[in-house]
Amino acid sequence: MHSGQLDCATGCAYGLRYAVEPRRVEQLKLDDLLTRNRKWADKIIAEQPDFFEQLARQQQPELLWIGCADSRVPANEIMGLMPGEVFVHRNVANLVLHTDLNCLSVIQYAVDVLKVKHIIVTGHYSCGGVAAALANEPMGLIDNWLRNIQDVWRRYKSYFDQLPDDNARVARLCEVNVMAQVMNLAETTVVQAAWQRGQKLAVHGWIYGIDNGILKDLDVSHQDTSSIRDTMDARIKAHLRDAL
Ligand SMILES: [Zn+2]
Repeated sequence: MHSGQLDCATGCAYGLRYAVEPRRVEQLKLDDLLTRNRKWADKIIAEQPDFFEQLARQQQPELLWIGCADSRVPANEIMGLMPGEVFVHRNVANLVLHTDLNCLSVIQYAVDVLKVKHIIVTGHYSCGGVAAALANEPMGLIDNWLRNIQDVWRRYKSYFDQLPDDNARVARLCEVNVMAQVMNLAETTVVQAAWQRGQKLAVHGWIYGIDNGILKDLDVSHQDTSSIRDTMDARIKAHLRDAL
């Protein structure tokens, strides 16, 4: 391990280097973190004395963020939002799976109780989970999780095979994975039921550039019970064709 990266252990065909968590926290003492927290809280109270008292009474976020667990993609910070403004679920490679009770429970609570108006699936370029899925190198239990990304890749393999190099394949798969997860999200029973009863709710797909800090809308928003499957499939194919 060096320079915050881990070489692909078995020299995989893609020659990928998986990004690993920076070692910053390890270098800090836990007491330092508590001191930083106190300074942060003091700064907010100086600007708005009743901020935490108000927040303690209730949360009313209008937005649910489903993002990657990657330490470089913190939802609040990159959108410039304060505590209380976004409900968050994160997992490796921002997947929305119909068998994941954790993610589904977050979505259900956000939609049915908090009544969020938007759910954004946000991926990011250089995603280690997506790269590992493409490299198909064994890493243990997480391989089962990453199979879901490999399923997306296989569905559009003929397009991915035409891309010029592995970097392009990873970047495009990061985008296409978001699109596929937005489709999964739109098809959940929770979201479908919300639309059927006329609740105002839209789902979106964004992707974040780790190297420039910019969020990009992948233009796959959906907000009604009309079938998303065929339109998303066509959208993904067109997106991949444009990348050739
Ligand atoms: Zn990631």
